[in-house]
Amino acid sequence: ATPAATMVGTTIGAQNGVLFKGGDILERAKDVDTVVFDKTGTLTEGEMELTDVVVFDSVASETQRTDGAGGSVDADDNPITDGGGATDGGQLAAPDRLTEDDVLRLAATAEHGSEHPLARAIVEGAKARGIEVSDPENFENVPGHGVRATVEGSEVLVGNRKLLRDEGIDPSPAAATMERLESEGKTAMLVAMRDSERSENRDASGDQPRAAGKLLGVVADADTVKESAKDAVSALRARGLDVMMLTGDNERTARAVAEQVGIDPANVRAEVLPEDKSDAVEAIQDEGRRAMMVGDGVNDAPALVVAYVGCAIGSGTDVAIEAADVTLMRNDPLDVVKAIRISDATLAKIQ
Ligand code: ADP
Ligand code: MG
Repeated sequence: ATPAATMVGTTIGAQNGVLFKGGDILERAKDVDTVVFDKTGTLTEGEMELTDVVVFDSVASETQRTDGAGGSVDADDNPITDGGGATDGGQLAAPDRLTEDDVLRLAATAEHGSEHPLARAIVEGAKARGIEVSDPENFENVPGHGVRATVEGSEVLVGNRKLLRDEGIDPSPAAATMERLESEGKTAMLVAMRDSERSENRDASGDQPRAAGKLLGVVADADTVKESAKDAVSALRARGLDVMMLTGDNERTARAVAEQVGIDPANVRAEVLPEDKSDAVEAIQDEGRRAMMVGDGVNDAPALVVAYVGCAIGSGTDVAIEAADVTLMRNDPLDVVKAIRISDATLAKIQ
């Protein structure tokens, strides 16, 4: 492209809130054949809200009160969680059993140490229910998996299945509940506890202390899909581009969100750890694709760097903006289409 054409394109971009970091970027954008969207904060608003609290009868699962098959109680046999009604749990619970508020208090206190949007939603949701949320006695972030904290003298875990499994706690009694919430597009998190005395012996005494872990319940957060996300996806597809989604969230939640915005489930890459996002983009490009990665978070920065074109969206994080080739000033996924159209139009003019 001539310097003049490039300047016109760059200027038109800027007038539309699409900032190209240089003329070469403007030229490249038209050659993109695959757009990879981060999910949270990019396709969704990124403002989580607590939606569900489900109590598990951990006393029953320890004593195998029901049929005892397989050593675990299926969530659907559980009178507290039956019907999926979060609100009737408290009424049915015997006095020595945990209530929803107990589970939420423990989860929120553990999450009080975290800045993660999932954590904030749990804390805010607890406060909105009149629960007092204090600081955990000890706190540890487990990136991409959850948190571990000491609350009221016990170790509390809040996070995904992997977090519990790594701690030797079987998440399968919550499987049906988790799957139901995830197929609604929510992020469901397990809440578990173990008395601190046993957890200290964890490494020394092999398998035995694994029994000490207790599944207490499940909490779920939901995010809303951005209004224009679906239109952006369909406009990109109409231009012949492949559209993909990349997220640390679990497969089922990711697919439910993909379905809402019109992304083919086969194009979803879920459960990608923060440090693996750039590898995921490289793997996509190793298939011979030219990818535009669109993301908003610190987590996304390395992926923006390796992408053929890296695109930071919204007020985003400074780190993402710095790593990006293109910055979309508005928080609107349709501006991704605009960026590609401006590139196309600018270069078409001079051919
Ligand atoms: P995303 O890419 O969607 O921002 P992350 O990589 O931060 O996701 O986290 C991946 C998954 O790890 C989450 O979907 C959640 O299941 C779990 N997780 C991460 N942080 C927390 C937390 N503070 N509390 C509970 N679960 C968490
Ligand atoms: Mg994000």
